[in-house]
Amino acid sequence: MTEPLQNRRTADKGGVLPRRAPQRPNLSRALQIRIFRRDKWLCRYCLYPVVFPPAMKFLQQYVLSRRPSAKLAYWSFAWRRDASPLLDVLGAVVDHVEPFSGGGPSEESNLVTACYKCNVTKSSTEKAVFLKRHPPRRIRGKYGEPEQWDGFSTLFVILFEDYRSAATRSELAWYEALKGQ
Ligand SMILES: [Zn+2]
Repeated sequence: MTEPLQNRRTADKGGVLPRRAPQRPNLSRALQIRIFRRDKWLCRYCLYPVVFPPAMKFLQQYVLSRRPSAKLAYWSFAWRRDASPLLDVLGAVVDHVEPFSGGGPSEESNLVTACYKCNVTKSSTEKAVFLKRHPPRRIRGKYGEPEQWDGFSTLFVILFEDYRSAATRSELAWYEALKGQ
């Protein structure tokens, strides 16, 4: 039903853990980046702009490199609300409109960008009820919708190049997916 950016994101959701499908699809990073870009980095349920989580990690590292004593809450592994409130609400995920666990295909037509808040809400609500309340919205190019928002993904690319030696394999793979398209 969902394909989070991080493999493990379980702790500290106040008991409201996202329901996990028995078998989760393994969406490639390239596919996820295509979905985010197609949707202009906007949650298709609430139209809030989403944030690319690895960018927040590198942004935190950057600020700490300049202000080592700073107390920051830009990023945490589990997207904890206390340690990364922006990601707790707006962290970008790719969501299956028709849940993967219910046979929904992992095809672009069934995949949308979602903010973490909508993703968790949908996960804990009957699909039909959620979709009635929050039908996926079409992104229109009319005046008023951001055309240039990128979820901080360009910031990620720039900071990755500065922190390449400290990057994880996962971050390298995100970098390559962002650069390869
Ligand atoms: Zn949303």
